[in-house]
Amino acid sequence: MARLVILGGGESGIGTAILGKQKGFEVFLSDKGKIQDKYKDVLKHIGIDWEEEKHTEAKILNADLVMKSPGIPDSVDLVVQLRKLRIPVVSEIEFAAKYTKALIIGITGSNGKTTTTLMVYHLLKRGGLKVGMAGNIGDSFAKMVAENDFDFYVLEISSFQLDGIIAFKPHIAIITNITPDHLDRYDYVLDNYITSKFLISKNQTQKDYLIYDADNEVLVDWLEKHPVQSRLLPFTLTRQVEEGAQIKNDRIEIKTDNNILTIMTDNLALEGKHNLKNTMAAATVAKLVGIRKETIRDSVTNFQGAAHRLEKVLKIHHVQYINDSKATNVNATYYALDSMAAPVVWIVGGIDKGNDYRELMPLVREKVKAIICLGLDNTKIKETFGNVVDLMVETFAMEEAVKVAYKIAERGDVVLLSPACASFDLFKNYEDRGNQFKDAVKNL
Ligand code: ADP
Repeated sequence: MARLVILGGGESGIGTAILGKQKGFEVFLSDKGKIQDKYKDVLKHIGIDWEEEKHTEAKILNADLVMKSPGIPDSVDLVVQLRKLRIPVVSEIEFAAKYTKALIIGITGSNGKTTTTLMVYHLLKRGGLKVGMAGNIGDSFAKMVAENDFDFYVLEISSFQLDGIIAFKPHIAIITNITPDHLDRYDYVLDNYITSKFLISKNQTQKDYLIYDADNEVLVDWLEKHPVQSRLLPFTLTRQVEEGAQIKNDRIEIKTDNNILTIMTDNLALEGKHNLKNTMAAATVAKLVGIRKETIRDSVTNFQGAAHRLEKVLKIHHVQYINDSKATNVNATYYALDSMAAPVVWIVGGIDKGNDYRELMPLVREKVKAIICLGLDNTKIKETFGNVVDLMVETFAMEEAVKVAYKIAERGDVVLLSPACASFDLFKNYEDRGNQFKDAVKNL
């Protein structure tokens, strides 16, 4: 019996344990931290040997195959040892994809993964297909493969998941965009991060598709220098393309196989240029898998966006409050500010992953009337924008930040939480930050 060792007892670890057991592996799961009770229950229920708060090397280094959770960096000693012993260390998507014949749509990128994944899922479901959604979003892919029989999978895939692939091949891949993020995991080398994103097309052939943002210079330059086998389907707001998605007047025009789908841009469900791009990418997928044009047009107008992403919370005294807590890097905040049509009271700050705020300067000059810093260390924000806006206030709790915003904002303004930073200094995670914002707004 082949021995499968799983490092990490979170969503992907437990999913892999379920699928591994089902496929006849001798499974052992090890977590250096504590495993949540709900996951322990599953392990006990299906009869899997596991440990927590330690890694017992003797039970790990004898593996035939190791599945490493995406949260564990390649540099940890145990992983280095496994590699030296030439034991394959793979990610969950690599492991699980072998056990399904479904057509796989893989979505990666720096920003827009979740939004695009949800939209593709919505389009395919509305089109009547038997489709599952997994990856970073919701249930683990492995668990879904073990328990369902879908014809299509839409997977949101982080670069950490891609780092652990060998043969994984989505028939349709999307790279939403590439901007610096998580560079701490890539030795602060952008090329390493880009290489990792492009692993999504590493095993693709001429029969497969790569959909990508052709307005994203970093991405386009890379593709020119490192060609892929896949059929390329760009989407662009600024250029004209032979195949792929572009804007013609007030329409999206998607050309594939000499056939054109047009979608009016004026009643799309999600606002902002970034969402226009996400919509173009998602609709391209829907067209490729043969969803009816009418269904695609309908579905992009009635799509419900995800929480914490430019989520409208409430209007109070003619001031709109918007929760964009998921904006954990500068690029995401760029698009948030870009899509604001009214003067902005901007709540920003947190843990910065090497941010360069200068990119935001023109937008801040044009749109932001006041900045409310919300982080333990706001030095960089103060230095960058101190002289640019009329009013800057430092706060250290959400309720305080929202109260200050309420005082400053006038009729017609927008209060935007778009932190451009991670949340771990003051909050559990971005959801906690967004929920605290929404609660504070509701209590005003
Ligand atoms: P991800 O899953 O890649 O983190 P999300 O869909 O959760 O992406 O969005 C993260 C943040 O980025 C949100 O603030 C959202 O408004 C913004 N965003 C969404 N799509 C894009 C895009 N195509 N380009 C830049 N920012 C985007």
